Amino acid sequence: MDNIPDEKTPLLCIDNLRVEFATYGGKIRAVRGISLEMNEGECVAVIGESGCGKSVSAKSILRLLPRRQAKITDGRIFFDGIDLLSLSEKEMEKIRGDRIGMIFQDPMTSLNPTMTVGKQIAEVLTRHQKISKAEARERTIEFLRLIGIANPEKRYREYPGSLSGGLRQRIVIAIAMCLNPRLLIADEPTTALDVTIQAQILDLMRELRHKFNTAIMLITHDLGVVANMASRVIVFYAGQIIEEGLADDIFYTPKHPYTWGLIKSMPKLNSGERESLVSIEGVPPDLFADLKGCAFAVRCEYAMNFCAEYEPPLTELCGGRRVRCWLNRNDMPDALRPEWIKSERTDVREPVINGGLE
Ligand code: SF4
Repeated sequence: MDNIPDEKTPLLCIDNLRVEFATYGGKIRAVRGISLEMNEGECVAVIGESGCGKSVSAKSILRLLPRRQAKITDGRIFFDGIDLLSLSEKEMEKIRGDRIGMIFQDPMTSLNPTMTVGKQIAEVLTRHQKISKAEARERTIEFLRLIGIANPEKRYREYPGSLSGGLRQRIVIAIAMCLNPRLLIADEPTTALDVTIQAQILDLMRELRHKFNTAIMLITHDLGVVANMASRVIVFYAGQIIEEGLADDIFYTPKHPYTWGLIKSMPKLNSGERESLVSIEGVPPDLFADLKGCAFAVRCEYAMNFCAEYEPPLTELCGGRRVRCWLNRNDMPDALRPEWIKSERTDVREPVINGGLE
C-alpha cells in the first residue's frame, strides 16, 4: 500500500456536509454531517453499505445531485482552495472533467451510444482546451494507446455498443483522465466487470495515478479492491463517517463494531485457519426518521443502554484515526470493551466533532 503524501494543505476538504432528498414519503437525510480531507495524489477508499451516503457525498462535490429533489442544507466543500458550493453552474462546468474527473459504475450509462468513442474523448478535449479537432483526434489516439488499447486508430471509430465491458470502462477512464484532473472520483468502477477485467482496470487506475499524481476517491463496497488500491479508508454508515484511518489500521485493528463486522465478513484465502465468517445482522436505520443516539445501536452486539440515547461523537485517536463509537472513549471502563478493541487500545484525544454524553 502507498504512503500518504506529505502535503499540508488538503486538495479536497469537506466540512460538515448535510444533504437531504425531498420525496413523497418525506425528507431523507442522506448525508448527516460529513467532514473529510484528501491530499494531493493519495487514494482514499470510501466504503459502506448501499444507501450510506457515499455516492451522494461524491456527487455533491461535483454538484451532480438532482436539483429538484436534493438539497445541500449545510456544509462547505473546498477543492484546491475553491469553495465549490459558491460557484456558478458555468464555473462548475470548467471544474468538472478538467480538474475533477468522475467514473461511474456502469460504462454504458456514461457513454453516448450514438457517438464513436474517439469523438467522445476528443469532444472533452476541445470543450476544455483551445485545440483544433485534428489535434484533439491525435491526442485522443495517443491517450488510447497510453491506456493500453491496441489499434487505437480503429477503436477511435467504434461505437460503445461494439466494445466489451472492460474496453468500455477503459474509454470511460480515458474520458475522465484525458485532461489530467487533480482528483478522480471513481464510484464502484469495477463492480460491473468480471474479476480478471477488474484487476486490469485497477492496474490502469493505479498506473495513471502514479503518472499524473491524481488523487483518487474510490467508492466501493469491495474490500478486496480497497486493499489493492487505497492508502486510507473512510467508513460510512447511515449518512455519517463512523471510522477513518490508514488502510492497514482499518484492516488489522478496526475500532468500530460495524467495521469489525465488515472485516470479519471477508474470507481469508491464505490464513490456513478455518474461521467462520461474521455477518452483520439487521438493516441500516430508516433515514426518513430523525435519528437519535448511535445509528448502529440496533445492530450492535456491544450496544450499551445509553448508545440508543446519545449519539457518539467522531473521536480522534492517534495516527489520524477517527471513530464514532462510545467504546473508544478514554473514560470507558475496560470491562465493557470487547477484546478486539482492548488488545489494540490507542490513545484517545477529546472528541473533535460535536456531541457527547453530557
Ligand atoms: Fe455499538 Fe454503542 Fe459503539 Fe454504537 S456507540 S457502535 S451501539 S457500542
